[in-house]
Order: sequence, then C-alpha cells, then structure tokens
Amino acid sequence: MDYQGLLERVCHETEAFRGKGKVADYIPALGRVDPGRFGIALATVDGSLYTTGDVDKPFSIQSISKVFTLALALKQEGDQVWKRVGKEPSGHPFNSLAQLEVEQGVPRNPFINGGALVITDILLDHLPRPLEEILGFIRELAGSDSIISDEEVALSEEEKGDRNAALAHFMKSFGNIRHGVDDVLKLYFSHCAITMDCISLARAFLFLADGGRHPVTGEQVLTSSLTKRLNSLMMTSGLYNESGEFAYRVGLPSKSGVGGGIVSILPGHFSLALWGPELNACGNSLRGIEALDLFTTYSGLSVF
Ligand code: GLN
Repeated sequence: MDYQGLLERVCHETEAFRGKGKVADYIPALGRVDPGRFGIALATVDGSLYTTGDVDKPFSIQSISKVFTLALALKQEGDQVWKRVGKEPSGHPFNSLAQLEVEQGVPRNPFINGGALVITDILLDHLPRPLEEILGFIRELAGSDSIISDEEVALSEEEKGDRNAALAHFMKSFGNIRHGVDDVLKLYFSHCAITMDCISLARAFLFLADGGRHPVTGEQVLTSSLTKRLNSLMMTSGLYNESGEFAYRVGLPSKSGVGGGIVSILPGHFSLALWGPELNACGNSLRGIEALDLFTTYSGLSVF
C-alpha cells in the first residue's frame, strides 16, 4: 500500500474544506490556535511512519486523552469499571446532562464527559500521583519525554468549566463520583490539556493496532481481549453523537477531541493520527473526517 501517496492525496483533496469549520472557543485558550493547520501521521505495526503536513506541532488532545485514562482504569479494575459507566452510544452531545437523571447518574459510555469524569474518579483511587502517572504512561507509549499538560489550557477550561462541574456534582449526588468534585475536575482538565503532535499520538495508539502489545516497546499494554473491547467502544462512541455517521463513512475505530485531533486504528495494520482544528457542529474535526472518508474509500482499508 502506498501510504505516503495516499496521505498526500487526501490532504490535497480536502484543502477546499479549510475555512468551513470553527475552532473550539468555549475553552478560550483553544480559540487561539491557527485554524488552517492540518497534518496526518500514520504509524504501522511493522515500524514504518508516513507523514504529511503539520505533524510535529503539538496540539491539545482533549477528549483523545479519554482513551489513555480508560486504558489505565481497565488495567486497574478490569470489568469492574462497567458497574459505574455504560457501553452504549449516547446519541447526545459530549457534554449533555440530559440522560444522566433518567439513568441514575450512570453515564452512557466512557468517552462522553460524564463517563470520562467517572473514569478520572476511578484513577484517583489507584494512582498516588495521577497526572504524573498518566503523563508517564503516554510518554512511554509515544517514546517521547516532551509530552506535557498545558496548564494555561487546563486553567482556561476550569474558568469556563460550569458544565463539567454540573455533571460531576450531579453524578456525585447519585454516589457515582466518590472524590471531591474539585479534585476530579482538576485532574480531568489537566489530562484533557495534554499536548502532543500527530507523530507522538500515532505512536502512542499503536498498541491498539497490535492486540494490546506495543510493537516498539514490546510491552503488553492491555490484554488482547481488553484491546478488542477498547477498539469496539471507539467504534460505537468515539465521535460522540456523530459516531454512527462516522462509522458509516470511515469504518475505523477512532477517537476525536475538540482540539481538532482524531486518531484511528486499523487492527493488525496501523494507527493514524490527524489534526485539523476547525470543527463541525458535533465538535469533531471537519476536514479530518473528510480526509478519513477519502482515505478508507481510496484504499479500501477499514475494519469492514
Ligand atoms: N475538555 C473538553 C470538555 O470537557 C473535552 C471535550 C472534547 O474533546 N470533546 O469539554
């Protein structure tokens, strides 16, 4: 497969989508990013790397961090996690409060904000220095020491964090948040504020393309069974209320973030990370989705 040619082609053919989306500005620090950035990095399980565009510019990974925190929680608690978080697509925006009351404070899945807050609460039980340990986990996976949490972004989100605070307090009223809401939110905003470039992100997700074993470090990060489950959740819920449309168009387990990143996995083959900060109405990278649609359409490579 000519991955390099393919990446360049989809990058070129999606240039017309520049200017069609909107950078997230509900977190003010994210609103300052250059909207025209775009890059794609593809890392294969046999060790090759293909890149095009802005692949070495760190950006805010936001909800993509929820995959790392879920992986850590699954390592700690395995299936116990599912007593407190569901596995169903929500069909609602990522920050919606609507289902939580009817469903007794148990969020639909670990990738909407409510679910990710519960996962963060679980990590507070197990990790004595949680942010350092989350960062350490990601640095090792990516093979890069330079990955940080951007304090300015975390503080900026905290200042405007009323909705996440509402979600956390509401779940606490059902007993599904056990630590102090402020501690949970602080860790949540800090892991969402982690910045990485496309190359590091593609490398860090490679274990999900190789049955849970990281092909570079050789470490079995997750069992193959949990890896299958994590990929399945990305397929059904990784793009919030656009997960169905995205599965229809792209057909790869993927996770997005409001920083404009999307990471996609083709089990047995590759992990692909892209960045395009202009978002569509669901909070997903607008050009990124177009590029992934073309990528799987031209290559015929998808899980289907
Ligand atoms: N930190 C963001 C929030 O809580 C993450 C959302 C996202 O990337 N979709 O709103």
